[in-house]
Amino acid sequence: MGERAVEELCAELIRFDTTNLGAGESRGEREAAEHVAAHLTDAGLTPTLLERSPRRSNVVARVPGTDSSLPPLLVHAHLDVVPADPTEWTVPPFAGEIRDGFVWGRGAVDMKDMCATLLTVLARWSAAGTAPRRDIVLAFVADEEDQGAWGAHWLVDEHRELFEDCAAAIGESGGYTVRASTAAGDPIRLYPVGTAERGTSHLRLTATGRAGHGSRRNDDNAVTKLVNALSSGPCTSPRRCAGSSTRRARPSASRSTSTTWTPLSAASAPPRRSSRTRSATAPPRRCCRRATR
Ligand SMILES: [Zn+2]
Repeated sequence: MGERAVEELCAELIRFDTTNLGAGESRGEREAAEHVAAHLTDAGLTPTLLERSPRRSNVVARVPGTDSSLPPLLVHAHLDVVPADPTEWTVPPFAGEIRDGFVWGRGAVDMKDMCATLLTVLARWSAAGTAPRRDIVLAFVADEEDQGAWGAHWLVDEHRELFEDCAAAIGESGGYTVRASTAAGDPIRLYPVGTAERGTSHLRLTATGRAGHGSRRNDDNAVTKLVNALSSGPCTSPRRCAGSSTRRARPSASRSTSTTWTPLSAASAPPRRSSRTRSATAPPRRCCRRATR
């Protein structure tokens, strides 16, 4: 296949419509996985395709390091994307256009860009005969945009041996571009690195106020207090949502003195619904970062 420019490779991956429709339904993951596997094979690796059910494909490969005493590093990315309605886009979401110096399309940010970056690095290592110090386990997974039941979740349940000696993992969601300046005033871009896994925080919010009719002004409205508390909380904008380790939920930031935030304990948190119990019409899980994809 030969080495491709990273932006061309990213655009190529975008052209695989890998929409995750939720509730176990998806498109195109196998075609994308086979394409990634071909690039990995080209880079001298031996990729394995793993599927819990037909067409929900994951690709795993191992890059041998030069020091086998070091524990491997897991680098993982997902190949599925959230749905895109072409009528809401100024470019066809799966055309993979490169225009004005930018790659356009669903997945350009989340996260076929990283898939393309990884494949480009591997191609360059292969061409240069370079190897990393430690083994690197690569996982390109399905179903990240829903619940991972056909992807990462299933892989660690059923193919634990592929990852069990890995000491650390690198994935997505480190942070978004922060525009700053050097001491000399030159503009620079900073890319924060998140150092923990983002997760779900269940909160129980209690607000008190005075009951009343919607047609009458009520300055002691419990619902308003809850909305204000949520808008000062952890997940109301792409910026706030990025970098979970640096922007943790801060219940004390509530603007309402009569609203209390209570993180639910694991015991009291609602159980995570398996995809088998999801409603057929339930939309895929998405975090509020979707606004930036
Ligand atoms: Zn993602």
